Amino acid sequence: MTPVLPLIKKQFITTQYNAPEHFQVYTERQIDKIEALKQLSEAQRFEMKVVANVLPFRVNRYVIDNLINWQNVPEDPIFQLVFPQKGMLSDEDYNQMASVLRSTNDRSVILKNANEIRLRLNPHPAEQQSLNVPYEDNEPVEGIQHKYRETVLFFPGQRQVCHSFCSFCFRWAQFIGDKSLRFSNTEAQKLHQYLAKYKSISDLLITGGDPMVMKTDHLVAYLEPLLRPEFDHVQTIRIGTKSLSFWPQRYVSDKDSAQLLLLLERMVKAGKHVAIMAHFNHWQEMSTPIVCEAISRLRASGVVIRTQSPLLNHINNDPDVWARMWREQVRLGLVPYYMFVERDTGARRYFEVPLARAWEVYREALKRVSGLGRTARGPSMSAGPGKVEIQGVSEINGEQVFVLRFLQARNPDWVQRPFFARFDPEATWLDHLKPAFGEEKFFFQDEYDAMRNKQVSPRVYE
Ligand code: SF4
Repeated sequence: MTPVLPLIKKQFITTQYNAPEHFQVYTERQIDKIEALKQLSEAQRFEMKVVANVLPFRVNRYVIDNLINWQNVPEDPIFQLVFPQKGMLSDEDYNQMASVLRSTNDRSVILKNANEIRLRLNPHPAEQQSLNVPYEDNEPVEGIQHKYRETVLFFPGQRQVCHSFCSFCFRWAQFIGDKSLRFSNTEAQKLHQYLAKYKSISDLLITGGDPMVMKTDHLVAYLEPLLRPEFDHVQTIRIGTKSLSFWPQRYVSDKDSAQLLLLLERMVKAGKHVAIMAHFNHWQEMSTPIVCEAISRLRASGVVIRTQSPLLNHINNDPDVWARMWREQVRLGLVPYYMFVERDTGARRYFEVPLARAWEVYREALKRVSGLGRTARGPSMSAGPGKVEIQGVSEINGEQVFVLRFLQARNPDWVQRPFFARFDPEATWLDHLKPAFGEEKFFFQDEYDAMRNKQVSPRVYE
């Protein structure tokens, strides 16, 4: 077998991408400086500013110059993905912020109004703060969420940011500067103590923000200690990232790209499964030569790249878009992993798609790809009790129903048990659904309520 290390090194020194590209980013205060936006009217740019003062906005030059077809604005899916749109706020919230911006430049007044509106947008869906943060010695372990027995999520303190922000992001509350709404922990030591204590944890998911915004040195501090024998039970390291889409230079021409790839390779060679959980919402994000180069270098390091995305109105509410995206991913050696349902937070009103439509898009897309593209599960809701997949719409005893199952659950015993909800063409989330066949509750409801009321631990498996 060809050794991986020389392969990577050869790639580093022989391609056209060795000159580092300058990373330039724009936030809500620099909207007027984005040259490409000058094709929009003043009124349209004002609308953007109104929304960007409530929901986080950040876009970098690579995205502006390479991923957006400016002839197709405002419909272009990547434009919709990164630039704020008026419909993302309710009329009431929009008007509140618009009148503030028309009347003052005082940042404290703007911020006070922004925070009022943000609190109405369900900043922490699915009880992330109340149920997912574990406690040790009666103290919350900050920066960690432990919802499912096998998997721990870690939010590194160094980087609660992304190369650009997605306008639909369910983690938006972490980017708005309110520390009480942010999960993070700069102390690698606490993470390691927690992982060493719970031998049922097989998977660590480093998430954020985007952990790949971090310098490699920081990643080394988190990851390398996991090669010690006390972490043998942590078999898989997943890194959730949208860097392949927003800044593929991370793996190609950043100053520490080579160091990063070598770190990943070391982890793989030492026996860890390293999975890059790559976030792609549209095939347009995979259309540049540099993203293909980044994928090729990552794969040469021995990691597996799995892909995921929510289904989003205005961006990818179309089976052809998904089928083309999955086909392209398979061609590039990526593994389609999840289609998610847009979460009940932030700009959901703009992006949400009825569950019935989500299932239709999933099924139609799946029909159009070969077996290797059919590895994507979904449509799946990351809801309070667990990840609930819509398996289909069916008719049983004359009643039209959604067929559902847990792919993951707070109680592992709930996993893979089919359950049924009355068909509702308007429903967009689990809490809109009612049990079918005249039943009063779903099978997990009593136990889940007891977890929420703190009568039983939300980690029943401990
Ligand atoms: S890259 Fe991920 S965490 Fe960052 S804004 Fe997009 S969806 Fe949110």
